Amino acid sequence: MDRTNSRDRELRARAEAVIPGGMYGHQAVGLLPDDYPQFFEKGEGAHIWDADGRRYLDFMCAYGPNLFGYANPQIDAAYVRQLGLGDTLTGPTALMVEMAEAMVAMVSHAQWAMFCKNGTDATSMALTIARAHTRKKTVIRAKGAYHGAAAWCTPRPAGVIETDRAHQIFCDYNDVGSLEEAVRQAGDDLACIFAAPFKHDAFIDQAEPDLAYARRVREICDQTGALLIVDDVRAGLRLARDCSWSKIGVQPDLSTWGKCIANGHPISALAGADKARKAASAIYVTGSFWYQAAPMAAGLETLRLVRDTDYLERITALGQRLRDGLAERAKAAGFSLRQTGPVTMPLFLFDDDPDLRKGFCFSSEMLARGVYVHPWHNMFLCAAMTEQDIDGALDAAEGAFGVLKRNVGDLAPVEKLAFLSAGAR
Ligand code: PMP
Repeated sequence: MDRTNSRDRELRARAEAVIPGGMYGHQAVGLLPDDYPQFFEKGEGAHIWDADGRRYLDFMCAYGPNLFGYANPQIDAAYVRQLGLGDTLTGPTALMVEMAEAMVAMVSHAQWAMFCKNGTDATSMALTIARAHTRKKTVIRAKGAYHGAAAWCTPRPAGVIETDRAHQIFCDYNDVGSLEEAVRQAGDDLACIFAAPFKHDAFIDQAEPDLAYARRVREICDQTGALLIVDDVRAGLRLARDCSWSKIGVQPDLSTWGKCIANGHPISALAGADKARKAASAIYVTGSFWYQAAPMAAGLETLRLVRDTDYLERITALGQRLRDGLAERAKAAGFSLRQTGPVTMPLFLFDDDPDLRKGFCFSSEMLARGVYVHPWHNMFLCAAMTEQDIDGALDAAEGAFGVLKRNVGDLAPVEKLAFLSAGAR
């Protein structure tokens, strides 16, 4: 897609002057195909419009927050109503208690909840509580798992000093031997073990949690007194109406939530078991905007929809329809496409595609046909999608596979992802 003279290009040029790097963090499109837009103007239901007015069926859902559709009328009405009454006040409103009650009612391992703004706030707070609870320092987490952008967990080394990363041991997700070795190294200093609900690292196939691994994590925490933390910031509410590990019958002590719990309005949460209540009340954590009432009103409405609708069954059926349809079309075009992860959070990777040149071509062709997919990060389904949307995406995929098939021999290397072929995957 030619974006020369586009509003997106103009905004990027202006951004270069006043925003470091032009854009930063997970929403910077630097590692996406060149035709991906950086700027958007609106979202409605399952669709987004870029700054040039092009409309896309959006399989990124804002990287998760959009669960019930952009500008969901019920959720946004609750938000706006509260905004008119008061948002950031000298103290919280009753909504904070109601939101905590709703979280406790929904998350079976939890007897209390605390609220903050971003997933990173929740994971960092979980770490602090685990250290306060155990009076120990060491955290075990899986290599490559994302838990946020604070100094202790950011994936980029710039500006991070050794002491920010001290007392952390890494293991391989789903590998009991590697977990046990990490526990051995922690000695008698283990404060907590972080676990993603499933392996949802970027650039590689996603993987379900291995039951033996999950149970062993629980056992080790029970034996040592360390806290088990499930980081449900990304996957929460797309696998279960409870902590995602409730599906495999393993209950954490703490779970972290964010992204979609208020359908995109700014609030995240930490939910915990009674055993960690004392430590949770001892630490000092806060923020100017942590008690905002309007996101809590939106959160309550979102959790009501979680409880009272069949959204989960619907997005699961839509995800399955997408997976089956895509498998069929990939096969017909002669491609081996790996679709991994839960159907509500799919990731597509082509076989024999070390620098993702096939993935880039396919994604660009989908974009040109009005479907926003991601070539190396898991995607998300939302309850505003319909069977017609999925079928439209499958038609687009048929076209995209066709173009890929014609050009597969001549695709240029994806220079910006050369680090993948260099063995970083
Ligand atoms: N944990 C996980 C698993 C995440 O996916 C994310 C965000 N992508 C975070 C934590 C951090 O959340 P936030 O970006 O809201 O700080």
